[in-house]
Amino acid sequence: MEIVRGRSVLKRTAVGRLQYYEKEEPSVVRRQVEDTERELSRYERALEQAEKELEALYERALGEAGADSAAVFMGHRMLLKDEEYRNSVTRAITGERVNAAFAVETVGDELCRLFLEMEDEYLRARAADIRDVSDRLLRILEEEEKGGGRCGRGPALSEPVILAARDLAPSETVLLDKKKILGFVTEQGSANSHTAILARTMEIPALVSVPVAREWDGRLAAIDGEEGILYVDPDPETLERLKEKKARQEEAARLLLEIRDLPDVTRDGTRVELYANIGGPEDVEAVLGSRGAGVGLFRSEFLYLEKETYPTEDELFSAYRQTAERMGGREVVIRTLDIGADKTADYFGIEKEANPAMGFRALRICLKRPEIFHTQLRAIYRASAYGKVSVMFPMVASLWEVEEAKAMALQVREELEREGIPMGHVDLGIMIETPAAAILSGELAEKVDFFSIGTNDLTQYTLAADRQNDRLDDFYDPRHPAVLRLIAYVAENAQKAGIRAGICGELAADPSLTEVFLKMGIRELSVSPSFLLPLRKRIREICLEETENDQGV
Ligand code: PEP
Ligand code: MG
Repeated sequence: MEIVRGRSVLKRTAVGRLQYYEKEEPSVVRRQVEDTERELSRYERALEQAEKELEALYERALGEAGADSAAVFMGHRMLLKDEEYRNSVTRAITGERVNAAFAVETVGDELCRLFLEMEDEYLRARAADIRDVSDRLLRILEEEEKGGGRCGRGPALSEPVILAARDLAPSETVLLDKKKILGFVTEQGSANSHTAILARTMEIPALVSVPVAREWDGRLAAIDGEEGILYVDPDPETLERLKEKKARQEEAARLLLEIRDLPDVTRDGTRVELYANIGGPEDVEAVLGSRGAGVGLFRSEFLYLEKETYPTEDELFSAYRQTAERMGGREVVIRTLDIGADKTADYFGIEKEANPAMGFRALRICLKRPEIFHTQLRAIYRASAYGKVSVMFPMVASLWEVEEAKAMALQVREELEREGIPMGHVDLGIMIETPAAAILSGELAEKVDFFSIGTNDLTQYTLAADRQNDRLDDFYDPRHPAVLRLIAYVAENAQKAGIRAGICGELAADPSLTEVFLKMGIRELSVSPSFLLPLRKRIREICLEETENDQGV
């Protein structure tokens, strides 16, 4: 059995025969031409044909994967129409007197190179779209030259297989026959690419960044999308385990289809905002797929943990903007970085501490190292022009911390205003995850727009039980009455002050407590995307009027 790691695009499992697919690359030769007018009109005809094909692909993607995913082909059409792009190809044909195919390839390569050099990960991923458009034009020109169309593109599949390829273009992905494709693995492509986005929306288990080998062709393989692993020739135990996993995932998917579009209301009409917790823009598809009402917790520190040095303001801005845009007007609560304790990055240069969970972490770092905070706040406020962005401070214990953090946020807003940078309204909230914050919630409620209760840390600090220590499993109990009473107290103080209070710790996903939380007055729960649907099901079963009016804590 071979075990190969990659980056997961969809947390699903697939088992089947693997087929290696080698793309037919268009072979382009440079030819000097006398009749440049003829080459120009060949180029114009290829553009027209490409446009028609893209229209058809758009329609197909719309049916298969929805409007958001189909938009990629609109993007391709826009590139075809882009004046700068067209002029570059035309100039190459007339100026250098070369054949249309050579001009298209050269301009496409140059554009790809420019995009690949960009700092912004999202823009870098767009190089694949340029390559796709360029290859389409080259194929059309080649077909015309050979005097006959090569119908359709992509791999020929006779039975359902796991497809392995060096790369798949978005247009090849959307043309994959879902009945014949169990999953795919590619060597190239990022989890941010349109191919990955399409795979997620079409619910095709897929891994990218897998070092794919031609000799796997025809062998049995399995994709474990939860772990990001490809098994080639899996042993019987692995096969059995993955088949069970697959059955579980299919059951969850069935549930998804039944209730996904229903509103989050109890039987007696109480509306709940069911939000999702994410670690980066790549998780947004999962939120939208389960119809999350928003992002209740964007754990922004992951963007810092992935890097070897501080991310730049533009890098952060790009991730926040993408998330806000893709959430399309639904709220995105960005928690400022919660570095420290178990989430360490060497480049922060934080000294070793005896009690890191109670040490220099989260908002404490931001207040003492304002340059880091300032960069992040600027990125958040800039992103607010592209959606409904809120900001939330973690690990608050004292009123003065909130006052200082708010003052810095205000200063950033004023600074950006002076620079003429557009911004939207930004709600300011705090996490309640220390007993001190819970006890002071009455006063804190006067200072912020919302609370989000982080039960993971609230449990650890209330019970003095390290959440990282597995020997304390019996002692670290988020359902402990002391924790539940603090939650009830926070909810009550929020209600009195007329601000929102939600829960974003793992406890929010516990369906046996949903009713308890609703009775406390909690109307917002934020959970991992995979818990959205089970929780929607639970909310819709509850009738608050039928049950006694005590909070059960
Ligand atoms: C929490 O503490 O409950 C929380 C949501 O934050 P994290 O798990 O990231 O510490
Ligand atoms: Mg926490």
